[in-house]
Amino acid sequence: MSSSVPSAPPSLSPSLVEGLQSAVGEAAVITEADRLLVYESDGLTQYRVPPAAVVLPASETELREVIRILAQADHPFVMRGAGTGLSGGALAMDGGVVVGTARMGRILEVDPANRRARVEPGVVNASLTRATRVHGLIYAPDPSSQSACTLGGNVAENSGGPHCLKYGVTSRYVTGLHLVLPDGSEARLGGMGREEEGLDLVGLFVGSEGCFGAASEIEVSLVPELPGVRTLLALFESVETAGVAVTAIMARGLLPAALEIVDRETIRAVEASAFAAGYPTHVGAALVVEFDGLEEGLDEEVELAALLCREAGAEEVRMAASDEERAALWQGRKKAFGAMGRIAPDLLVQDATVPRSQLPAVLAQIAEIGTRYGLRVANVFHAGDGNLHPNLLFDRRDAEELARVEAASGEIMEACIQAGGTITGEHGVGVDKRRYMHRVYSPQVLRRMGEMKEVFDPRGRCNPGKVLPDGFGPPWGGDREGKGPGPEGGRSAESRGGASPPSSAEARLHGLVARLQEVLSPGAVAEEGPAHPVCPAGEEEIAAALRLAAEHRVPVRPVGQGLERGTEPVGVSPGTELRLGTGRLTAVLDHAPEDLQVRVSAGVSLKDLSHALASHGHWLPADPPGGGEVSMGGLVATGVSGPLAAGYGRIRDQLLGLTLVDGGGQVLSLGGRVVKNVAGFDLVRLAAGSRGALGIITSVTLRLFPLPLRERTVVWSVPDPDTLSELRDALMATGVPLAALEAAVEPRVRGIAIMARLQGSAEAVDAMTRSLEAPAGRAARVLEGEASRGWWAARSEREARGTLLLRMGVLPSEGPRHLGALLPLVGSGSVEGEGTGAGPLVPLGRPLGVSLALGLLDGRLRTLAPAKGEVEEVDMNGVPGGEVVSALQAVSPLRVVRWPRAWRQEGVLPPVPPPMGPPRARALRLQEEIMARFDPAGLLPGPWEGLP
Ligand SMILES: Cc1cc2nc3c(=O)[nH]c(=O)nc-3n(C[C@H](O)[C@H](O)[C@H](O)COP(=O)(O)OP(=O)(O)OC[C@H]3O[C@@H](n4cnc5c(N)ncnc54)[C@H](O)[C@@H]3O)c2cc1C
Repeated sequence: MSSSVPSAPPSLSPSLVEGLQSAVGEAAVITEADRLLVYESDGLTQYRVPPAAVVLPASETELREVIRILAQADHPFVMRGAGTGLSGGALAMDGGVVVGTARMGRILEVDPANRRARVEPGVVNASLTRATRVHGLIYAPDPSSQSACTLGGNVAENSGGPHCLKYGVTSRYVTGLHLVLPDGSEARLGGMGREEEGLDLVGLFVGSEGCFGAASEIEVSLVPELPGVRTLLALFESVETAGVAVTAIMARGLLPAALEIVDRETIRAVEASAFAAGYPTHVGAALVVEFDGLEEGLDEEVELAALLCREAGAEEVRMAASDEERAALWQGRKKAFGAMGRIAPDLLVQDATVPRSQLPAVLAQIAEIGTRYGLRVANVFHAGDGNLHPNLLFDRRDAEELARVEAASGEIMEACIQAGGTITGEHGVGVDKRRYMHRVYSPQVLRRMGEMKEVFDPRGRCNPGKVLPDGFGPPWGGDREGKGPGPEGGRSAESRGGASPPSSAEARLHGLVARLQEVLSPGAVAEEGPAHPVCPAGEEEIAAALRLAAEHRVPVRPVGQGLERGTEPVGVSPGTELRLGTGRLTAVLDHAPEDLQVRVSAGVSLKDLSHALASHGHWLPADPPGGGEVSMGGLVATGVSGPLAAGYGRIRDQLLGLTLVDGGGQVLSLGGRVVKNVAGFDLVRLAAGSRGALGIITSVTLRLFPLPLRERTVVWSVPDPDTLSELRDALMATGVPLAALEAAVEPRVRGIAIMARLQGSAEAVDAMTRSLEAPAGRAARVLEGEASRGWWAARSEREARGTLLLRMGVLPSEGPRHLGALLPLVGSGSVEGEGTGAGPLVPLGRPLGVSLALGLLDGRLRTLAPAKGEVEEVDMNGVPGGEVVSALQAVSPLRVVRWPRAWRQEGVLPPVPPPMGPPRARALRLQEEIMARFDPAGLLPGPWEGLP
């Protein structure tokens, strides 16, 4: 933290100023030095850099025009929301222009039926929840700065907040983005109902700290606001003992919505301020614990938490009896930063995350460092996530004290890293933490992050000087030519082996296999020949195999358990590619039950992992098609979700880190083992769902959950899609937090089944059942405990036995209609004639071929034939393709005789099915360029290969 001295703002050429004024109006371009003062720092006031100008566009069109003009002038810029960032992220380095979103504050759509909202980037976080609350919905991520910070800033920083312990951080909730890239072009990423479509660029953009371009429109998902809340405040002698209580609460299987600690220094600051909350000033720490849910069962949870606090040594535990008391208990936590201004002229807000079990030890170390440097340290932090904020109090006019702050700050970072943590959990790297990046990532990983920046911003003009240490990524003003993907970047047919004569490709494969036999450990290469997967014994062997494959120019197909349907190689004859398997990587590498996390090798099956976790009372809420046999590497690489994704998020949301061996054989260790981590660009989420296109995943680190105490499935039957739609709406309106909500049409079963999976304490599950019964208004079948679990498991496993004919994403509210359109397939396997929207409803109960499954909360729609080869032809003409918003994902050995009319009319017949304008095409190009960085020789499969 070396603070920069403000100098006079650099000036822009008059013609550039005029151009910007013509785009947004004169009043929206600020160039006067006194008015620029506000923009020369963000919430981390130690850094001050005057911008050349500030431009405030009022719409997406104006924003695009501004960025286009800056691109033409080759001038650097930085996006800015409310400027509450705490890592210097919104500072305009290199004489850059600040592009502010203060005038882009419109909520464009609130769509309660799909629990989503679309907003402009300048919308203030808290105002979104204010707008959605009338529908019983909230936007879950709630940074403590939520009354000021913007959704654009939240996306850029992947912000968290007190309630992210239970609900997860921003990346879980962003479902779609419109971008203006630094060259002025537009890209459209994701969108509800479009999941599983190539690389997860939404996941990569979230947390990219404004370095990849501007988010001009943001689509987010919303969650029901739960009716019951219980809050308690526990007072401890020290932060260390409060930390012990936190570990005990989590280890007991409780999942509070929030677990927050403030220490003595902070309490004293708050009590001496206008925000006094009535906390006793003699205590060492105050712990705020909050539970939310249905009313029933909450008292038991909060009482258990109170008992655990007392056992850990709490001298007093208070429970809020009213909303006013709850607000008072939170007061000390929420106003902590504001109050600190009273006790010191300057405050360095630090941000680091450690495994939760390390909290007491690290807190003791921080106290020791503070004492040794003669500094006051005030701790305010998200204890449940292990996300620390040790705040160093000082006076920047005292140069000697400033030097001590800097040294202490470095030691605190080091202590957190040594404890298995990372350098930032939510504030980002910005300018402040660049110097620590090499402490948590290898040069190879930093280079790859730099290459990602280069893909989005080849000239390094967008937010230069942030996140990456010098020497990584395109430097602004350095390589003025920029770098494209390079001539080797494409995935040519030749590189995939397609254009070469099969004999030479086969010969290359044989040559490679012979070489692997020499190099790899015994048993890696199967006796049966090259058609069988080569299974190296470890990560280094996989790296060696990939390097040799590149040398021999042999395409590689990563295989896990080989269970996924519909991904047979396209254009590659089976004898020409190396099938590289993770079947021998079967170790549970590190299970930390107290931190609710596990690191496993890629070849471990979900079933084996679940078994190992169950003995500790934990589980991974993932139910992919294929069931328990799926390998963990395969699960993460395909990214395919099952019904539980609706309640818990997808597998990408549980991923903390992974190891990937890229196409060039480099081992990249990505992410970490802490639940909140925003250090650098999010390559973990990029790799999830990449289907082998970026490399072979060799290990994954995952967040776990306590096994639910009670489980129940309630099943209703409805006669037709319209009634299904009505019942869906009625069930969703209850706001009951469902683990899953699915509809299914089965061969030889009359009607459409609708299944709600409920999990929680016994009281909560009973209460949920009662809440659902009234609106359902019809008799239900109930499956309890093991019967419920077994039933869902059998459904997943069936997908491994049958043939997945069709997988697509639709807007959840439209799901019943699409299901209706597919019903004829259940009846006959084929429909003749032009489709008319919903299509004819054939009577159920005939001898049938296929079954249908629909995720009613997330719009996953699947069509499954019971056994391979049973259905050979489908006619998709009845599907209202114009409404289908996601890619047709997999039709494997099946011949599709006709495609939805709308797709034909758009001229977008497969392999790129959905209608695609230039912004989608731009996103596809970004994907290709990213793949070229991970796999320069183009030997790995594309994420969409195998699609029809
Ligand atoms: C008192 C206080 C409490 C805080 N508590 C929390 C907390 O609990 N959790 C947490 O995570 N953070 C917290 N923060 C940090 C900060 O509020 C968050 O990082 C927030 O997301 C920043 O939003 P902003 O609108 O102020 O963004 P800014 O500070 O203006 O910008 C932050 C970054 O986002 C980029 N950016 C902004 N808009 C866009 C856009 N449209 N497109 C692309 N990039 C863009 C900027 O270039 C910059 O790199 C706190 C800060 C303060 C001062």
